[in-house]
Amino acid sequence: METPTPESAVPSSSATGVPCSSLLAVEDEVAEMTLTVKWSGKEYTVRVCGDDSVAELKRRICELTNVLPKRQKLLYPRIANKFADDSLILSQFNLKPSIKMTMIGTVEDDIFIDQLDSPEIVDDLELGQDEVVDVKDKNVNKQKLQRRISQYKIKLRNPCRDGKKLLVLDIDYTLFDHRSPAENPLELMRPYLHEFMSAVYAEYDIIVWSATSMKWVELKMGQLGVLNNPNYKITALLDHLAMITVQTDSHGTFDCKPLGLIWANFPRFYSSTNTIMFDDLRRNFVMNPQNGLIIRPFRKAHLNRSTDQELAKLTQYLLAIAELSDFSSLNHRNWESYTEDSSKRRRHS
Ligand code: MG
Repeated sequence: METPTPESAVPSSSATGVPCSSLLAVEDEVAEMTLTVKWSGKEYTVRVCGDDSVAELKRRICELTNVLPKRQKLLYPRIANKFADDSLILSQFNLKPSIKMTMIGTVEDDIFIDQLDSPEIVDDLELGQDEVVDVKDKNVNKQKLQRRISQYKIKLRNPCRDGKKLLVLDIDYTLFDHRSPAENPLELMRPYLHEFMSAVYAEYDIIVWSATSMKWVELKMGQLGVLNNPNYKITALLDHLAMITVQTDSHGTFDCKPLGLIWANFPRFYSSTNTIMFDDLRRNFVMNPQNGLIIRPFRKAHLNRSTDQELAKLTQYLLAIAELSDFSSLNHRNWESYTEDSSKRRRHS
């Protein structure tokens, strides 16, 4: 999908917020819009750009109101229904700063119910190599990343450590089966989680990044005993607000986790050469495909928790590659054979 020209976008002073376009190509320039959103008797000012999607607008509103994007219904004269499509681009809407938008939605009080009734993402995309390169190199996506870098504040729970690599971990289906019912969340924890974390902590700083709200991330990690474990420390937690929305020709619009956000925040410690990220969804890596490792999803915990070995095996891989000074030449799709080869090498030496 082409980015439409922002004929309807209303420019506003860049002093009021983050400039939409940095020094990148002029043709991709889009104007910033300041919108007023009414919710629950109060008015909120939201700054977005013409090339932002509806999903991004809802994320901005979520930052101010804590109403999750999927719970928001946006009303605006004559165009209310179109806000149901998260992939649409705001410059198509002819939004005017003088007209107020109304949001209807409630803050979650029961995030467990929220998790269980959210639609399950099962089909992952397999983008062609050319298209992956295209997504990460598109100016519009680089600009979105720049905006996210200026807007999202990463809160360090523990200091970055000199000389350590960086491991970024997804939660749902990677460390935890969030869809199975259980009396105690520990029943849904992926086997070997703490052993894995403790072992790799020797070589890696650990950041947890989930496409859910921070409330859920903190609660879940706390319940599993990840946040106060005596054997390892978590450097930071990131949530869905740190993600960006990208468009592809073949797979439409979706959210992803751009590692550039972390690298820009901690350039002295982390870069594309020493970072690896585990996620069960390939789409989350689209801005940094070489750094991603697709982990087998941990589903049906009650059935699989006696046999799932994924984290135990990945411990060996992470420790084996930690000897490298640069991860850039690794193909994480071959991680299982790498570990076998390196244990063979050890036996023969
Ligand atoms: Mg996941």
